[in-house]
Amino acid sequence: MRTEQNSPVVRDVTLETELVVCGGGLSGVCAAVAAARHGTKVILVQDRPMLGGNASSEMRMGIVGVLKDQYQEAGILEEMQLRNFRFNPLQRYTLWDDAILTTVISEPNIRLLLNTSVEDVVMDGDRIAAVKAWNSNAYTRYLIKGRLFADCTGDGILRLSGAKFRRGREFPSEFNEDHLSEGGDARTMGNSILLQLRKTDEDHPFVAPEWAYHFTDDDFNYDTPKSTIPGVKYNYKRIYSPKDNNFWWIEFGGKYDTIFDAPDIQFELKRIAYGIWEYMKNHPDGRCKGYDLDWIGSLPGKRESTRFIGPHILTQNDVLSGGHFEDVVAYGGWTLDDHDPEAFHKKGRISVEYSTPDYFGIPFDCLYSVNVPNLMFAGRDISCTHMGLSATRVMATCALLGQACGVGAYVALREGITPADVRRDHIAEVQDILEDDDCMLPYRWRKVSPLTLAATCAPAVEVLRNGIDREWDGADNGVWVSPGSEAIAYEWKKPVTLSGARLIFDSHFKIRSKRMRKLEATTERVEVPPMMTRDWRLEAKVRTGRRSYEWQPVFAEKDNYVRLRKVSFAPVEAYGLRVVVESTWGAPEAHIFAFDAL
Ligand SMILES: Cc1cc2nc3c(=O)[nH]c(=O)nc-3n(C[C@H](O)[C@H](O)[C@H](O)COP(=O)(O)OP(=O)(O)OC[C@H]3O[C@@H](n4cnc5c(N)ncnc54)[C@H](O)[C@@H]3O)c2cc1C
Repeated sequence: MRTEQNSPVVRDVTLETELVVCGGGLSGVCAAVAAARHGTKVILVQDRPMLGGNASSEMRMGIVGVLKDQYQEAGILEEMQLRNFRFNPLQRYTLWDDAILTTVISEPNIRLLLNTSVEDVVMDGDRIAAVKAWNSNAYTRYLIKGRLFADCTGDGILRLSGAKFRRGREFPSEFNEDHLSEGGDARTMGNSILLQLRKTDEDHPFVAPEWAYHFTDDDFNYDTPKSTIPGVKYNYKRIYSPKDNNFWWIEFGGKYDTIFDAPDIQFELKRIAYGIWEYMKNHPDGRCKGYDLDWIGSLPGKRESTRFIGPHILTQNDVLSGGHFEDVVAYGGWTLDDHDPEAFHKKGRISVEYSTPDYFGIPFDCLYSVNVPNLMFAGRDISCTHMGLSATRVMATCALLGQACGVGAYVALREGITPADVRRDHIAEVQDILEDDDCMLPYRWRKVSPLTLAATCAPAVEVLRNGIDREWDGADNGVWVSPGSEAIAYEWKKPVTLSGARLIFDSHFKIRSKRMRKLEATTERVEVPPMMTRDWRLEAKVRTGRRSYEWQPVFAEKDNYVRLRKVSFAPVEAYGLRVVVESTWGAPEAHIFAFDAL
């Protein structure tokens, strides 16, 4: 029997690792997975029961990033989205959470602590020695010692270390940011609670709780002029139709403190959200006929709170000039999308979007602290101005930032150096690894393996070794191959030692439905992209006699559904290596962008 004498109420646990990632949104997940895949021991601490942050079932924010197909973000994010297609064809939000969870718990180098909130730091001089965290579900206090720390919490809890940070809006003159109409204040973009709708055949009026706001047409009686300036878009509350509406504009809190005032902001948002649905659903013009409220968020999503300061602060002008940085490690492609701090209660325009280049680079210098040597960050708390954040904050960009942070952390830990040293001495390696891991970087292409370049191949296969792993400016950059064909082959005159291969299978960047859909509970199923290679094998050409050779299988896989496959096999002395596609996910031919022999 357990009694107060022999059983403590609260447990203390000390853990030790190499990299501690705080926050399990898309940036934290990608940071942890990227580092772990290169051999780094990681503890990922997330205060919610699920991963994904604002993309999770708790918030239900759709992932966006670049606007044009050819620039689409790949890497770990694309892998998770494909995993979601495979295991969550009905696109239910809680199963999407678990597609992210699968990606994390499949990594033996990651210890995941869910429901665990980082609440303090232990310093050793100017370095972070450990974080303290609390799991209220397990009544457990953790002391987590690490060598390097990544803050991916969005709210920057590791500012407790004394790391320098910014908050609010800069003066327009400070960084020469002319899209910032006002500034020099503590105001931010607000927090939001979302609604999710379901299509229905029956129609019943919606009854809101008594404490909700009750809106009438008078509340929305104001002018909504369209912008006449090219490249500038004005946004208003979208109260007229439920179609394609994710209710992002139910936003409040930008005039307050989005962290310390979060509980009050949450309640105000609930009052607005219920009131809005009551107004829209019961409107006499029947604008929401055929829709019911399926889900309402509770914890408001945060767009903006704090931003750490790194050696570079990304600004509006960096974004507009395309971000040509020597230490580029990620990119964005969203608009400069600045929300008015008045948000929902403003009568009129609530956000302005300024167009940006198709993609803009983001440097490594935005991902580590200027004054805490072992602190990195990724996601919406990177080093940027308020205007810079207005473009970088979207989640596909945050995922790329996370992956870059994870690779940078791996190199720092492997070398026993700081992120600043990585920037100085190893940035080219970080960039090469990211490209090899299927993270395209702006204004450069991936290095192809030397073995691949030394091989001979059919002219039609040449394109697989051009380092461009996607369609680009109208060039296909891939090979279409029928199941059973042995067309994709490299050969060498003298034997080479082969032990692996890297392939990029086409995952169809044109399918935008990879982000979770806004309507809940539809019965429409999503499928793995049809031209994706499903069953496939590798064969090596080995010598079997003085003049005889044989293609022998060295690797085989069933049911592949991801873009990047890096595989290894027992080393073999060979004169050739070829890919044999056995089946696709429905198309008559598979489409392959890259094949490297390793
Ligand atoms: C209403 C709204 C609409 C938006 N619209 C879009 C959109 O349409 N598309 C898009 O791509 N982006 C959108 N964004 C922006 C985007 O969601 C965020 O900028 C993005 O989620 C930031 O990613 P992140 O990984 O940095 O942080 P988050 O997604 O916020 O994840 C951080 C995680 O860390 C956890 N955490 C925080 N503190 C601690 C702690 N002390 N200990 C442990 N864990 C902690 C949090 O609970 C959270 O789960 C929107 C944001 C909001 C709020």
